[in-house]
Amino acid sequence: MNVYFDNAATTPLDPEVFEAMKPYMTEFYGNPSSIHSHGRRVRSAIEKARKTVAELLNVSPAEIFFTSGGTEADNTAICRSVESLNIKHAVTSAVEHHAVLHTLETLEKAGKIKISMVELDQKGHLDYHHLEELLHENPKSLVSLMHANNEIGNLADIKRISMLCYEYKSIFHSDTVQSIAHYRLDLQDFAAHCLVGSAHKFHGPKGIGFLYLNSDHKIPPYIMGGGQERNMRGGTENVYGIVGLAKAMEIAYDHLDQHEKHIRTLKKRMVQKLRDQLPGVDFNGDSASPLSLYTVLNVCLPPTEDNDMLLFNLDINNISASGGSACSSGSSVGSHVLEAIHSDPNRGAIRFSFSKFNKVEEVDYVVDKLAELYSIKA
Ligand code: PLP
Repeated sequence: MNVYFDNAATTPLDPEVFEAMKPYMTEFYGNPSSIHSHGRRVRSAIEKARKTVAELLNVSPAEIFFTSGGTEADNTAICRSVESLNIKHAVTSAVEHHAVLHTLETLEKAGKIKISMVELDQKGHLDYHHLEELLHENPKSLVSLMHANNEIGNLADIKRISMLCYEYKSIFHSDTVQSIAHYRLDLQDFAAHCLVGSAHKFHGPKGIGFLYLNSDHKIPPYIMGGGQERNMRGGTENVYGIVGLAKAMEIAYDHLDQHEKHIRTLKKRMVQKLRDQLPGVDFNGDSASPLSLYTVLNVCLPPTEDNDMLLFNLDINNISASGGSACSSGSSVGSHVLEAIHSDPNRGAIRFSFSKFNKVEEVDYVVDKLAELYSIKA
């Protein structure tokens, strides 16, 4: 059996998405900025895709800007919000993705902002009272807090954060890369200034994403060049990527409840089987809880001498998953997320992440293999 349980890293391209993209790789090659028919044909495909994304998020198409992915969208939102609004203070958390943390740290090193970290509980959940204290002391901040954590699957209450941001006149940016097209986010239901999406996390192509910018939040472009994306992002558009992103999002929404149910069944089964077959197993963050991101399960393994070999051994058995434990003292590599929640560095951690394409038999195979690898060591 060959098992791919690393869907939080990237998901396989849906064949239906590929079919939708193909004509824009071959037949419809015009530059969307050209005014002739070849260009116009392609321009209309981009605008159709924008409309699809906007409708699914319940926003105006004018609020969607296509980017090269989640990282660029995060960088654009953070850097340009800070500069154009002359923001001096940012609030974030230690478990954010590096696309957010490294961007904020760079701005801090350049003397542009001061960063405050929201405190986390032992499971990695935000302390909302501390967030309010920080905003009370520093109104007009930039708040960058992710919706779903890519490593431990914790979900933040983005509605509550948005209300605090509104109260303290702050800008709210949320990295929603892991939740877009996995949850039905209705942007009329909460007030975020900037959200980001990335197609390869929901069976779309790599190298394409989008930035949602609330129409009241005007920022200059991050990538300068031509006037593409209504002057918000220079560079000829990744046309087949954009078409693929919209198609992938459409498919995801059409079957969202059914896929969520299926993936939850897989995750629940894996939690149960691991508890039954691996004494001493635990789960990092809140990932075993039904209230966490349903696609991610971060397993905290019983301590052994060669945890580091585990991913390698899984790979030999045709199982792809992600690893990483908290940095042990003196080591520079490791997960900043697991370190932030004080996960035991002596216990290995494996992130299994699921998609609609995974099967129950794969869960059984992986747990049996893990148990076998442990019994060999015991
Ligand atoms: N933010 C989160 C939470 C992610 O999981 C990722 C991808 O791993 C990114 C941002 C970066 O997205 P992209 O790969 O599209 O640049």
